[in-house]
Amino acid sequence: MIVKGIKELTEEEKYSIINRNKMNLEEIIPTVKEILDNVKNRGDEALREYTKKFDRVDIEDFKVYKEEIEEAYEKVDYKVVSAIERAYENIKRFHEIQLESIKEWEIEKDGIKTGQIVRPVRSAGCYVPGGRAFYPSTVLMTVVPAKVAGVKRVVVVSPPYGKGINPVTLVASHIAGADEIYKVGGAQAIGALAYGTETIPKVDIIVGPGNIYVTCAKMLVSGSEVKIDFPAGPSEVLIICDEEAKDEYVAMDLLAQGEHDPNSSCILLTTSREKAISIKNKILELMKNTERRNILERSLKNMAILYGDITECIEFSNEYAPEHLEIITENPREILKYIENAGSVFLGEYTPVPVGDYATGTNHVLPTGGCSRIYSGLSVDYFLKKISIQELSKEGLECISETVITLAEIEGLHNHAKTVKIRLQDKIDL
Ligand code: NAD
Repeated sequence: MIVKGIKELTEEEKYSIINRNKMNLEEIIPTVKEILDNVKNRGDEALREYTKKFDRVDIEDFKVYKEEIEEAYEKVDYKVVSAIERAYENIKRFHEIQLESIKEWEIEKDGIKTGQIVRPVRSAGCYVPGGRAFYPSTVLMTVVPAKVAGVKRVVVVSPPYGKGINPVTLVASHIAGADEIYKVGGAQAIGALAYGTETIPKVDIIVGPGNIYVTCAKMLVSGSEVKIDFPAGPSEVLIICDEEAKDEYVAMDLLAQGEHDPNSSCILLTTSREKAISIKNKILELMKNTERRNILERSLKNMAILYGDITECIEFSNEYAPEHLEIITENPREILKYIENAGSVFLGEYTPVPVGDYATGTNHVLPTGGCSRIYSGLSVDYFLKKISIQELSKEGLECISETVITLAEIEGLHNHAKTVKIRLQDKIDL
């Protein structure tokens, strides 16, 4: 853990904080490539082999049937089912409003109509991690935006839990409206979604978080055949707070992030040295009596508590481009005006990251490792295509003909020019 003034950081210190968790995929590319090639060439047979090797289970049929979902409901506590339903409603509402903001439109000038129509991709694959834990919230965050966007076939894949899939994941998939569920995980699941197998037809887009093998596989399959959302690594938070912020809230929010993963990154930027020290002490105090201490002890090693004036804090945050950004200052919306890069922003002392992880309705599948500089979090947009349209009257064609003919001829595409002229024979000499 480092506690220092932003201005006092050495170049190396700053570099290692900003360039956190750059995934070194080089080493695992050959393994993942081999898995993908095998799935492409041998389909279900390869899926069975890898599932036995990595998940230590023999699966004959990867498909989840109606009866398994009914059994899952019997195993899951009613309280959990209703929490999933409530979260589902909020997530659905948020993404429906997001969809409304993506407009179809048309304009007309001089007989030339142009515009945009919006159509969903036909199919989407949602990867739901399942190795070390299970994530019903990730089911909602991936399936719901796809369904709201209008995707007809939404597929969930998740590593097997014994012979099936964790019942909570199944219940969440059912509530979210998944059309198909398969018990397969890892790079082999990504291969199945990208190329298709006898049991699992291919999809158009693959979304959702996963470990390094899953992320590497997504990056390798992405291209003209299948689209992916973005690479996502270990989770992270950056908090900007002023002297008035409550130590306990800030310290707890950093611990909440650190418990995800030993590689999680937790950064605090505050406006005074005294505040930095008192929050550090609060973290050490809370650590004495915490769950998931073995993970936290490792993740907190990467923690940076930095202090500087508010402009320095904002500049550092923009350079860091965090996945989650909390702003706990007297007037957080004033700071928000200057925020350029973040996956999702949490404003004020009553908005800790977990509210967005589960229930406000915003999406928790977010770009990490500085990727919020160039990517947005998962949203309905990822599942949609904007198709441009144009329709010209004869007058419209006449109006634009000289521009088209001149540019087509200069590019040597004389038939391009002719196809315009032919329509205007009564007006133009061929
Ligand atoms: P996972 O489902 O991503 O990976 C498990 C699979 O990895 C296994 O089924 C196996 O097929 C494969 N695998 C394991 N060891 C392998 C090896 N040596 N070679 C090849 N393949 C191998 O589950 P996980 O491992 O628990 O990782 C989940 C990750 O997703 C965690 O880092 C977690 O923090 C992250 N996560 C992120 C979010 C988010 O929204 N950002 C949400 C939930 C989880």
